[in-house]
Amino acid sequence: MVRRKLFVFIAVLFFAAARLSAATAAQKNVILVIGDGTGPAVMALLMQYAKLAPDSPYKDRLSNLEKIMGAGSLSFVFNTPVDTVAVDSAASGTQLAAGVKTYPTAVGVDAQGGPVETILEKAQKAGYGTGLITTVYLQDATPAVFAAHRQSRKYYHEIAVDMLKTKPDVMLGGGLNYYVSKNNLKDSKYHNIFEKVHYAAALDPQAKDDGLFEKVLKSGYQLVFDKKTLLNAKGPKLLGLFAPQALPFVIDRKPAYPLLKDMTQKALDILAKNKKGFFLMVEGGAIDWAAHSNDQGAMLKELLEFDDALAVVADFAAARPGTLVIITADHDTGGFGFNYRALSGAELEQKKQAGYPLYENTDYAAFQNLDKIAAQHRSFDAIIKDWEALPAKNKTAKTAQKMVKDALGVEVPEEAAPDIKAALAQATRMLGIVWATRQHTAEPVLAIFTGPAGGPYPVPAVMHSTQINKIMEEYLL
Ligand SMILES: [Zn+2]
Repeated sequence: MVRRKLFVFIAVLFFAAARLSAATAAQKNVILVIGDGTGPAVMALLMQYAKLAPDSPYKDRLSNLEKIMGAGSLSFVFNTPVDTVAVDSAASGTQLAAGVKTYPTAVGVDAQGGPVETILEKAQKAGYGTGLITTVYLQDATPAVFAAHRQSRKYYHEIAVDMLKTKPDVMLGGGLNYYVSKNNLKDSKYHNIFEKVHYAAALDPQAKDDGLFEKVLKSGYQLVFDKKTLLNAKGPKLLGLFAPQALPFVIDRKPAYPLLKDMTQKALDILAKNKKGFFLMVEGGAIDWAAHSNDQGAMLKELLEFDDALAVVADFAAARPGTLVIITADHDTGGFGFNYRALSGAELEQKKQAGYPLYENTDYAAFQNLDKIAAQHRSFDAIIKDWEALPAKNKTAKTAQKMVKDALGVEVPEEAAPDIKAALAQATRMLGIVWATRQHTAEPVLAIFTGPAGGPYPVPAVMHSTQINKIMEEYLL
């Protein structure tokens, strides 16, 4: 009797598993992962840190990015807009989302300013699940271009309205500011909601229309504001607004904020329930912001968070054969790189005595510099804010020197630290790092594709970013 029961139990399990795999085999999913500002040299920082840093946290010394790159196919991608060489996230994002060349600042519109249907909108029409995730705010260019159509990225309010209308199944990021007005905050009928928002005191209401928040509440979305409620959320429609604007940098972030991997896992859990499949865009948005601040420590932490999210994506794709994964950047920011520099005087002596590797008195940026970058525990933006709050008499070279030592562990000479910005720039040079600009460069980016079996996917070696859109559409639609 017991044996028979066991047999029935095993048979039920077997058929359940067979049905599940038939369902997942029929699903077609596209996961587009965008590292904003993550040019090849920025990707290389993550890969070199994993591989070469003496205290690398990666046991097998390979970042998830490198593992996926090794298994998949690689393309060299130009993101050139319609009539300029340099690009912004709006144009390059629109090119990925809609497959047409357009102009910088354009959100989901073509070169003439007319709306163009995006892959997210087409997928939604065809019955697929859809989702957008970012570590900055949802109305910022990269997420916006998939679900809004405006002639400029500056129309944040209108973009917020558009995105609510397009209504992807899952939207996770920052940007509550654009859905609430000053009157909403004062309105007692919403008090029980704002009570649950841990960052409510920092809200700076931007909604032009008092009724927009009511529309959010009636939109059918489950609304979450922090990591705990995100992890418990069930969907099927989920809107996570985790900050007034962008989420804080990982390096400065408190535990109430979810990580990119938490958001990615939740979105995948919800979207995987769609029998047809889904389109999901995941953005590491603050990699770009750290690069704009020429802050390598904050950038590396964002890259590590991005890499953790890649592990979630790769695990999902390995279990779901119908999944096309694309990892790319919309453009490079900062022109980051390592270089060498000749040393002299006290710094040379100090390094010699410490046994730091030098070749003909030249510092070629030793592997331990990678650990030093990772040891930074406060963003440059936050350090500069602290400095600005000091009384004028305390803004001395000594203070700047100490603040940099405390946050970065780098000892800059007093004469190179007349103020905090100069001190941070000197510390950066001493780590062997150069930044070409605080803006974007026109350097082409890399795109990594893994196909249905998690292996290579046939793609051209060189392409324009609009072609990535065609590849995704051909696969899904
Ligand atoms: Zn940027």
